[in-house]
Amino acid sequence: MKIKEIIENSNRAVLSFEVFPPKKDSPIESVYSKLEEICAIKPDFISVTYGAGGSGADNRTCEIASKIKNDLGVESVAHLTCVNSTKADIDSILDEFKAHNIENILALRGDYVEGVEPKREFVYASDLCSYIKARGDFDVAGACYPEVHLEAGDEVEDVLNLRKKVDAGAEHLISQLFFDNSVFYRFVERTRIAGINVPIEAGIMPVTNKKQIERMVSMCGASLPAKFAKIMQKYDTKPDALRDAGIAYAIEQIVDLLANGVDGIHLYTMNNPYVARKISEAVVSLL
Ligand code: FAD
Repeated sequence: MKIKEIIENSNRAVLSFEVFPPKKDSPIESVYSKLEEICAIKPDFISVTYGAGGSGADNRTCEIASKIKNDLGVESVAHLTCVNSTKADIDSILDEFKAHNIENILALRGDYVEGVEPKREFVYASDLCSYIKARGDFDVAGACYPEVHLEAGDEVEDVLNLRKKVDAGAEHLISQLFFDNSVFYRFVERTRIAGINVPIEAGIMPVTNKKQIERMVSMCGASLPAKFAKIMQKYDTKPDALRDAGIAYAIEQIVDLLANGVDGIHLYTMNNPYVARKISEAVVSLL
């Protein structure tokens, strides 16, 4: 089923998860038991990331998205980046998605990879959105950045660029992770003023270890509220306590977002069924 229909038919906020495929040198089956547990939670859909710098051939996104949808019975969304792909590459990936019954794509530009010359056939995610929409087979989603994309000049420029992506065919948006809900509320306000009226899911990352938070923040520039930084500091050397505090923080964020009428919650599960289950159990009755 197309995500647009899931959102329209659900009449409540949706709950979706994000998972990632195993590394190239690990067998694909190495994630199957985790995927089974994650799918058993029955989120509205699960999205599957696409390897950074991916050009298609070495990518396992299709295989995992197909497993989730066709074997484990949860609707899936395949992420797809375009900056390192030609139109011919994208055509063959889309054919592969179609052959595996995958109907939903998160269309992304992707990041430039050092030492890899971009193909320059797609410059922005909006180019990929319109290219995929022209085929007519897929529901297309786009990414958005409550704290502004790192390369954008300012928030006005970024939101006007986001409008181009929606005009090019992105039917709903999934946000970058954030830890301060007020940042998200201001962002949603900007989008509505800019005439962006599609559903926007809030990206929530339950932080379960210190390394993970440092990596994510340096990569995506998310700011850390004092309350959050204090928790990280206090439980720095106690892994179980840090995990539980991270789960509690994510639940508190989600409760507040739902109370404020968010369209959906997109949980970055990091392939961790325990964390996904704890959070889902706490919020499912509030959706
Ligand atoms: P775009 O929407 O193209 O935006 C990139 C920059 O260009 C922004 O600064 C924007 O303001 C600007 N821009 C956009 N359109 C125009 C225009 N017409 N004119 C001028 N400027 C413009 N990366 C992966 O490699 N694999 C993944 O699976 C993956 N999944 C992600 C999932 C989510 C929910 C998010 C939020 C990000 C994900 N990323 C992933 C990261 C993403 O690839 C990077 O953030 C990348 O830098 C930007 O991708 P985009 O699709 O948002 O780009």
